[in-house]
Amino acid sequence: MNPNKVLLETKHLNKAFADNVVLQDVNEQVHEGQVICLIGPSGAGKSTLLRCLNLLDQPTKGAVLFAGQDLTQLSEKQLDEIRQQMGMVFQQFNLFPHMSIVDNLKLAPMRVKGMSDSEAQAMAVALLEQVGLSDKEQAYPESLSGGQQQRVAIARALSMNPQMMLFDEPTSALDPEMVGEVLKVMQDLAHKGMTMVVVTHEMGFARNVADQIWFMADGGIQEVATPQEFFDHPQTKRAQDFLAKIL
Ligand code: ADP
Ligand code: MG
Repeated sequence: MNPNKVLLETKHLNKAFADNVVLQDVNEQVHEGQVICLIGPSGAGKSTLLRCLNLLDQPTKGAVLFAGQDLTQLSEKQLDEIRQQMGMVFQQFNLFPHMSIVDNLKLAPMRVKGMSDSEAQAMAVALLEQVGLSDKEQAYPESLSGGQQQRVAIARALSMNPQMMLFDEPTSALDPEMVGEVLKVMQDLAHKGMTMVVVTHEMGFARNVADQIWFMADGGIQEVATPQEFFDHPQTKRAQDFLAKIL
């Protein structure tokens, strides 16, 4: 891991849906091993920015550079390969209901990467251990709690051995008692050096785990700061108002 290396970068990134300008001239960098927490009010464009980072949403203008390569210039097939290196976890877990947990984890590495059954099995077992679900190998998604399913979804994203992870409100659909177990897995991942961009309303996580906060509101990133700077001394009126409402 090289903290001086820029892994992901946006240049003059703009995104509009018809005449609704959601992102205006976003110029940010994510360094290797860095954990970014993207916070801000609902409708601020957090999901849109995250989805532009791996081109699930096509920017209206500007560039997204991953390891120096401009994703906006790539074919859909090339993009599919890049997206494997940017694991994504959503609010909804979207596990395959008809497959056991271990088979959910083995599917993509075998189909997409051509991994052998025994290699994929070994990796799935290791990932289940990492997310604390070794005993659930043969279980089916419906028998798991939401927190357990989300941990499987994280393991599934990790099964492609990504260079970075994108999370969009991974705990927002969970009952409160399950939030901690998912945040713990994410915190462990951060401590292992995974590069992460996390959209979250979990301010404790943002304060404790993030290296940098990106505060979004009104069509752009209003503030980029360390958690301590941001939470203790927010600079913009918009951020001060936001924090006053939630803290
Ligand atoms: P956040 O994740 O911060 O709540 P979003 O990125 O989901 O915000 O949405 C930002 C704005 O973009 C909102 O005004 C929303 O209505 C609009 N938007 C998001 N996705 C689409 C879409 N697929 N089509 C049209 N408008 C969209
Ligand atoms: Mg969102």
